[in-house]
Amino acid sequence: MTMRVFRNATIHTGDPHRPQVQALAADDEVIVATGTEAEVRAAVGTGAELVDLDGAAVIPGLYDAHIHTASYARERSQIDLRTARSLEEALAAIAEHAARQRPGAWVLGGRWNSNAWERPVQPDRHALDSVCPDRPAALPSIDGHTVWANSLALRMVGIDRTTPDPVGGQIVRDEHGEPTGILREAASYPLRDLVPEEDLADQLLAAQEDLLALGLTSLHDIDGEDCRDAYLRLRDAGALKLRVLKAIPVEHLEAAVAEGRRTGDGDDWVRTGPVKLFSDGALGSHTCHMIDGFAGDEGNHGIAVTPYDDLVKLIRTAASAGIAVATHAIGDRANRLVLDAYEQAGPAPGLRHRIEHAQHVRRADIARMARLGVVASMQPVHCTSDIDLVAALLAGHDHVSYGWRTLLDEGVALAFGSDAPVEHPNPFVALHAAVTRTRTDGTPSGGWQPEQRISVGEALRAHTLGSAYAAGEEHRKGVLTPGRLADLVAVDTDPFAAEVDAIARTQVLTTVVGGQVRRQRP
Ligand SMILES: [Zn+2]
Repeated sequence: MTMRVFRNATIHTGDPHRPQVQALAADDEVIVATGTEAEVRAAVGTGAELVDLDGAAVIPGLYDAHIHTASYARERSQIDLRTARSLEEALAAIAEHAARQRPGAWVLGGRWNSNAWERPVQPDRHALDSVCPDRPAALPSIDGHTVWANSLALRMVGIDRTTPDPVGGQIVRDEHGEPTGILREAASYPLRDLVPEEDLADQLLAAQEDLLALGLTSLHDIDGEDCRDAYLRLRDAGALKLRVLKAIPVEHLEAAVAEGRRTGDGDDWVRTGPVKLFSDGALGSHTCHMIDGFAGDEGNHGIAVTPYDDLVKLIRTAASAGIAVATHAIGDRANRLVLDAYEQAGPAPGLRHRIEHAQHVRRADIARMARLGVVASMQPVHCTSDIDLVAALLAGHDHVSYGWRTLLDEGVALAFGSDAPVEHPNPFVALHAAVTRTRTDGTPSGGWQPEQRISVGEALRAHTLGSAYAAGEEHRKGVLTPGRLADLVAVDTDPFAAEVDAIARTQVLTTVVGGQVRRQRP
């Protein structure tokens, strides 16, 4: 048993009865007291470990209700050099990327295009060594036919001046006959074979550090079963530092039902979430399902990805087995059909069905959403990313887009997330988008459709308690009161005191999950 008192802070509890306290005590993972420091220390007696938060503002740990962590982890483990405009830019990006990887890990990815650099030069191992001397690097070019390796990688694969060119390949050499680090075609195969297949659990461990540094303490993962297996392994090894609600892919629904998996099963670290269904596509691809056609493409109403009758069947199959349903729906027709399907499938006591994205919704359907108790799981940064797209494609449509104000006013439960890696997972950028409806550069001035802005408190609630509610965990997470998990973050910018524009630039100082400091800003 470890008793810790977190002191010297402005703690925004999220509890309307006592919104602000100065100290909080956690007995192991659970909050046991909040209040003034004197109150808290009196409540826990002597012997507690003191954690001084240096006067920082504290908020409940942020909870991402929609994130693809396996995709995010895989993407972050590979460098993408397509946008580098010079060797110098490529090297700077490699240095930054290498610093984020585990010690000794290979530097992978690549997709460099020296033909597109301002000064096209053939890169070599010396340049790569200058930014990455101590871990092997093997970076395929954009067309995949050439690999740029550093000296360590060449040594590991045993390529030196005495190595002959293989049939169908070339080891590029300098004027002294030394390999330059450029391996063409078959000459690159031995090195490619040497590159280890990266373990998803290792990649998730590295990604976890990013997410903790951003203030996230819980997430709903929308990726596959391999991701679930990796998280379970990490949990069993005691390596998981943030909490995961794991969605079930629709392809795996039957198997999950057969094995008796139910939403809410598990523990505070890995819990079974809803099954993820798809109703339509996306706005940018003109595949979201709309009641009216797209501007300039009027005959096109998008695509119903899952036929309505199948949707109803899948919802019934899941709900009768104790599995909640989360359905992707972006267009107003898709949102309406999902609500129809939830209604037709019948009541699902104890299960919270949800709509993922709920981006463009008719007002009448928002009222139905509230009545049916369907949670809107939304990603504020999609709104600010889509401003131009909505103006171009959905002009004149009679729905609300990213209608947070209307949803809350109608009584719909709102949960916020990022949809990373589609967007960056930074929750403070999401809070800023929800409160201002401007991009981080402040455009458009005054906010896009500003009548749908919500307050800092409402946005933060959606990104904490709202996500917990979507998971049926509102008695466990999202508010800093006794009996709930001690998941909290100390930040350099008090969101309730700062200018709203500063919220997007918030730095997380300390991330606490289960009463333990899991990440401290260096
Ligand atoms: Zn997604």
